[in-house]
Amino acid sequence: MKIVVLMAEEAETTGRHELLDHHPDEYEAVLGPALAELGQPTYRARQISGWVHERFAAGFDEMTDLPADLRTLLAKRYSISPLEMAFQARSRDGTVKHLWRLRDGEQVESVLIPSRDRVTLCLSSQAGCALACRFCATGDFGFRRQLSAAEIVAQFRDAELVARHVFGRGIANVVYMGMGEPMANLDAVLASLSILHGGFGLGARRITVSTVGLVPGIRALAARPEPFRLAVSLHAPEHTLRETLVPVEKRYPLPDLFAALREYQEAKGRRITFEYIMIDRVNDSHELAHSLADLLQDLDGFVNLIPYNPIPGRDWRPSPPERIEGFVQVLESRGVEAAVRRPRGLDIAAACGQLRLEREGMEVEDTGDADEAP
Ligand code: SAH
Repeated sequence: MKIVVLMAEEAETTGRHELLDHHPDEYEAVLGPALAELGQPTYRARQISGWVHERFAAGFDEMTDLPADLRTLLAKRYSISPLEMAFQARSRDGTVKHLWRLRDGEQVESVLIPSRDRVTLCLSSQAGCALACRFCATGDFGFRRQLSAAEIVAQFRDAELVARHVFGRGIANVVYMGMGEPMANLDAVLASLSILHGGFGLGARRITVSTVGLVPGIRALAARPEPFRLAVSLHAPEHTLRETLVPVEKRYPLPDLFAALREYQEAKGRRITFEYIMIDRVNDSHELAHSLADLLQDLDGFVNLIPYNPIPGRDWRPSPPERIEGFVQVLESRGVEAAVRRPRGLDIAAACGQLRLEREGMEVEDTGDADEAP
């Protein structure tokens, strides 16, 4: 682990160019100067991209079909930085959480969630978050900094190897539902989407960007040629209630949000997922279920109902099953499709809204010791 950190710090000070920030189509331009210097053909760029995106090379020394002098020069000028795994924990339900330490000491989490036939990666788009949703532990924690495209992509690249090792299969789906608000880090998130899709070959339909409802980001996603999926964290169908749960409702109130969602749907023809956490007697009444159905009337939407997962300092409780059932019945009677989702990885604090790091005084445990058997 130490060696990785030193290499990463060196990259910072020596100003090496980070290849994970780039789409394969950019490799020729990015690597051009080094290739030209050694009189190497431009097809080497494609070869190197293959090593990064298909063969998951950790460094240039692994690229054995490149001439030795080229490998040496590449290692001086470029980096393919892995993240430092500070902590790994495996839940009884199979979920695997990673805590990654970034070059400057910031930390983010990602979660691998296996189901019967596939593995989903939930990744982070920011260190911390500025949006302060009332029910979210990351929001409590405040904003630290944006992640680079490379830091988002590296969460995938590093977790993919773990998934293959632990589950015997690679990642099938990626959701931007970890720490942070993807659409408040739009440039890096859009770049990372292109790289996951065009570099690592993940189908756009297998990648979901979840937003609390930032209208410019929704428009930007709608303008993309690839059909990436969109999830919206709604949590309340009425302005006054929503602004108490999701403060950004003040800036992008429901009518503006839904205008952007209709545009997205017209442009993409894709179903939109709505996340709705169920907090006992806060947002789970029959009346609100009807308001939600009204709101979704002219959209192709799907509602994921997620029992609130308690976080410290709130006296809320998750809605009991009968209230959730009542809510679902109203939605279904109104022709709105809904499903109830159980948070996964509860025992290792990997569940929705729990992705929060105890930075102060946190002892980073040895990766191997922390990896409990499921
Ligand atoms: N900022 C983005 C991505 C973060 S994921 C967004 O808001 O969509 C946010 C999701 O985590 C929410 O939709 C919600 O489904 C879930 N979540 C956050 N805190 C939760 C909590 N305390 N209990 C249950 N789900 C929670």
